[in-house]
Amino acid sequence: MSVDYLRISVTDRCNLRCIYCDPLRDVDFVPRKELLTFEEIHRIAELFAQCGITRIRLTGGEPLVRTNVVRLVRILAGIRSIDDLSLTTNGVLLESMADELKDAGLKRVNVSMDSAQKDNYKQITGFDFFENVTRGIYKALAVGLRAVKINSVIIKGVNVSQIPVLARMSVELPVAVRFIEYCPTSRQTRPASDYVPNKEVRRIIERRFGPLTSTLPSSGNGPALYFKIPDSAGCIGFISGVSGSFCRTCNRLRLTSDGKVRPCLYSAYGYDLKGLIRTGAEDRQVMSLLKKIIAEKKNFTRLNSFTEEFCMRSVGG
Ligand code: SAM
Repeated sequence: MSVDYLRISVTDRCNLRCIYCDPLRDVDFVPRKELLTFEEIHRIAELFAQCGITRIRLTGGEPLVRTNVVRLVRILAGIRSIDDLSLTTNGVLLESMADELKDAGLKRVNVSMDSAQKDNYKQITGFDFFENVTRGIYKALAVGLRAVKINSVIIKGVNVSQIPVLARMSVELPVAVRFIEYCPTSRQTRPASDYVPNKEVRRIIERRFGPLTSTLPSSGNGPALYFKIPDSAGCIGFISGVSGSFCRTCNRLRLTSDGKVRPCLYSAYGYDLKGLIRTGAEDRQVMSLLKKIIAEKKNFTRLNSFTEEFCMRSVGG
């Protein structure tokens, strides 16, 4: 397996408070001076690229709330060996930014939408932004971002009824609607018993639309398995991180907004790259740490050693 994929969390701040990620409560954000600057992110991305990273995804928190994020997209798109630059967003600000993001070199976008029903959307996210997100998805398609993927987390007792409605979006639009299994990360979020296995999600979709046919992803080759409702414009994806396991094929590293590299989403530790950089390390010293992290990831040692609670918003889901 080659480790070629880096997810960069550009901020831990978010304009939503989803019940499964970061419910409404007092939150501690990383102090601004502890966030990586664009220049630091650029340097780290360049050095990662020299170590074999070819794909970068920006995430958060909500990446579109980071001031001047379009400038960062342009900087990263300029790294020669990065051939795939994508972004995961809640879509609230996408309508107004899709054009400039595309122009700056963004290729693809994943938009989180857990419900296609206004009140239910608000119940999940805490805010009344369903229509903004819908317009954002249409705008992303209109400006030519390909692929556009929709990420939906299904929670028992909250949005199970939305499964067929979300799946139908893949019939009408050239989008991949992906169902991500809810993974409990802290006591603040929903209990583990609220998780709905993707086997059940698929059963609900097939009851409504008939048997799904297997297909290949239109882009990217992450952990999702893709299927189609016959005669649909898009496809359906299942990311089964709880009922299944894709650790042995996982090729992604994560850079947190405060500059730590986590070899695994569930790592109980992160390598402090920002600390190294801010004490004046030369490129060869930083590269040597990056190579060590990549080797560790390849050897699959000490990963999944999750012991603490964490928040997706902080790590960069
Ligand atoms: N703000 C952006 C967004 O909403 O897509 C990016 C950050 S968000 C943390 C990235 C992804 O993580 C979203 O698709 C979200 O649904 C998913 N996510 C967050 N908490 C999760 C959890 N506990 N289990 C499964 N997925 C989760």
